[in-house]
Formats: sequence, structure tokens, C-alpha cells
Amino acid sequence: MGFDTIIANGRVVTATDTYTGDIAITHGKIDAVGKSLPSENAGKIIDAGGRYVFPGGIDVHTHLDMPFGGTTSADDFETGTRAAAFGGTTCLIDFAIQYKGQTLRTAFDTWMQKASARAVSDYSFHCIITDLADAQLEEMNALVREGVTSFKLFMAYPGVFMLDDGSIFKAFQATAKNGGLVCMHAENGNAIDVIVQQALAAGKKSPKYHALTRPTTAEAEATSRAIALAEMAGAPVYIVHLSCNDALEKVREARDRGLPVYAETCPQYLYLSLDNFDVPGFEGAKYVFTPPLREKWHQEKLWQGLTRDHLQVVSTDHCPFCYKEQKEMGIGDFTKIPNGGPGVEHRMSLIYSGGVAGGRFSVNRFVELVSTTPAKLFGLYPRKGTIAVGSDADLVIFDPNRKHTISAKSHHMRVDYSMFEGIEVTGMPDVVLSHGRVIVEAEKFLGRPGAGEFLKRSTYTQP
Ligand SMILES: [Zn+2]
Repeated sequence: MGFDTIIANGRVVTATDTYTGDIAITHGKIDAVGKSLPSENAGKIIDAGGRYVFPGGIDVHTHLDMPFGGTTSADDFETGTRAAAFGGTTCLIDFAIQYKGQTLRTAFDTWMQKASARAVSDYSFHCIITDLADAQLEEMNALVREGVTSFKLFMAYPGVFMLDDGSIFKAFQATAKNGGLVCMHAENGNAIDVIVQQALAAGKKSPKYHALTRPTTAEAEATSRAIALAEMAGAPVYIVHLSCNDALEKVREARDRGLPVYAETCPQYLYLSLDNFDVPGFEGAKYVFTPPLREKWHQEKLWQGLTRDHLQVVSTDHCPFCYKEQKEMGIGDFTKIPNGGPGVEHRMSLIYSGGVAGGRFSVNRFVELVSTTPAKLFGLYPRKGTIAVGSDADLVIFDPNRKHTISAKSHHMRVDYSMFEGIEVTGMPDVVLSHGRVIVEAEKFLGRPGAGEFLKRSTYTQP
């Protein structure tokens, strides 16, 4: 009996090691890693010579098939996971939203229904809690036992998603006991709403005012408050989509004090800035998401944060809305623009290009940021996030020299523009495997909707 597949002669990269070797796969799992593995009886041999082999990317922040402001995000679980696969991301953690008055169970069931027949690669959910009474506190424990081990809370969007500090504190107390991890959208929503109303009253209604009405101080204040509430409850906290240096400083200070505080940033905050609003007409709406784009100088601070481990993860907050008809709902009133941008496909290449090819950090740090730490924080390690015997054979053969110019003309996301239009990246995935099956090769999709599995996750471990 031979192996099902051997990936031969690649430069194998994990968060800690880089070496040339073969990876053998049997029944969807990594069966052996070594030099010159016996290939006579192997079902298939893929030559990875001259290229890297990475563990599949894990994007822990996407919003597929999500209702928002009277419309729905443009990618569903089929198109979204397929686009992710083209970019080397083989596992998504999306968000199941509990609306007011609902049980958490209803949220979970609703999103399972959206995903289970469509996802081409593995997926899981954080549960967004917008209404937290005693019953839901109990349900948090039940969900953790069933493998939904992280929750997202909002300090922004009063009246829609926002929880008060007392409820947030109770949620932290619950996760301190049940081992769950709270993901926090940290912006001071009440103050922002006042600024927004004042801007509208003054006739400031174009897309860039979405950004100008959400100051960095509002993000820093909420980040600091989230950390304080978590500290009082004795719980870890994960700050989502951190966008600016002011908030980064709060995370850095807390980590220097030894607190279990973690944060992600996203490619848009590393590559785009307020300057992107200098476009004709209403086109700035393409860059309306929350937190908003910041002044350009924040970008290098965020890259440094990734290098120095003040930031631990890069996710995308992929939440695509087409410019035509969806973004256009906000012509004449920026508050009606659906918030979100498309990004799931290009995370790996953008971060490799700017991080590794750009000389900012090592290829091992790259793997840690886009795969290993996400797996550890969200209870998927070592099944995902590394290349080791027994791990799922979610693998990416990556050409570090191939150049690609990002464009809506060639991308696979179901959206009519790209936030990164015209940006040239160095480093592209050539072959992508999920559970040992090739799902992308030579720019062709070879996977199948419904092949992705729901992942029951363990509780958070300190990375
Ligand atoms: Zn989000």
C-alpha cells in the first residue's frame, strides 16, 4: 500500500521550521514528512520543487451571505470559499448572527444552513451576540461544549449590534469560566453616532465622511475599555480588525503587562488609506467599511505591529458588496452605504508580498500570522495551522516569485470591483489542497460545493 499523494521536494514552511522535503498524504491527512519518501505506489506525485509548501491559510474573519442594511453580502459560502481557495486560504471562520430576541442556537442553525451544502473547504463560526440575557449566558456554555468556542461582541452600532458594558462584562465572566474567547469590535459607538448625526446635519454626506466621522480615538478608547473589562473578569480578549496606531498602543501596553490580549489587522489597513477617497463621484463607497481607512502613516505602524508580535493575526473582514446597486444604496447619504469590502482572495499574497518579499518579516512569521496563530487561538491546532503528521492535508504550494496584478477582471470573488485594483503582488499560490484533494491548480477550480466540513473547535489556547 502506498500513499495517496506525495508532494515532493518543496520548501516546507511552518511557523518555526523551513526545510526541503516530501509530504505524504493518506485519507486526507498528512501521513509522513521526510526525505525521499517511497513514491513507487503513490497514487499521485506533485512536484513542488523550487516552491514553498505552506499549511493552508485560515481566515478567521469573513461575512458570507450576511444580511446588512437591507441587502446581503455578495459572496455566499460557495463563491466565498472558492475565492478563498484561489488565494491559498482553505479554512474560514465566519460569523453566525443572533438577532435581538433570538436564541444563540437559532443563529448557529441559520448559518449552518447557509454553509453546509455550499462550502468547498472547511468552515466554522463565531457566534455574534446582540442580546445577552441569562438564557443566552447559559447557551454560551452549551455552544462552547459543542465546538463553537468564540463569540463576537460589538461596542459600536448602538440599537443594532451594540451591547452595554455590563453585558460585555458578563460575557467575559462566562468565557473566563467556559474557556471561550470573546472577539471584540472595539469602537465607541455612542460617540460616533453623535458625530455622524452632526455631519449629516451639516450636509456632509459623501462616502469619505464615513471615515471622517469615526476617529481613531473612538477605536482606541473602546479597545482600552474592552481590555479593562476582560482583565476584571479574568478572561482573554481578541480585538478584531484593528486599524490604527492609537488602538495598537493599547494592545501593546496590555501585552507588555502580560495580559492575554490579542489583535488582528486586515490587508486593507496595511495597503489603503484615506487617500483612497480621492476618487471621482461616489466611488469612495468602494472603501466604506468599519473601522474606516486611516491616514497613511498608520500603515507602517501596523506592519511593525505584525513584525514585533503586538498584532498576532491577519484576517480580511471579507464582506463584499457590489458597487452597482449595493454600494449605490448610499448615494446622497453615507450612512446608507453597506459597510464592507472584498478581500478573502488576496490576503495570503498581499501579506507575503508586503511582509516577506518586502523584507519586513520571515516566511515563518508569515505562516504564523495567516495560519498557525489563528488555528491556536480558535481551537483548531494542530489539526490545522501546521504541517505535521496527523494534521489535515490542507496545503498550499506557493510560488514566491510569481507576480500578479490584482484586478476585478481576474478575481474570483462575486463582486464587481477590487479594493486592491492595480496592486502588484509577489508570491502566488500554484496548487491548493483541502483534505488532500487538489481544489485549485493552474488557475482552475477542481473542488466541489459541499465538500467543506464544519469544524468543531476546542477552546482557546495561548499561542
Ligand atoms: Zn467583520
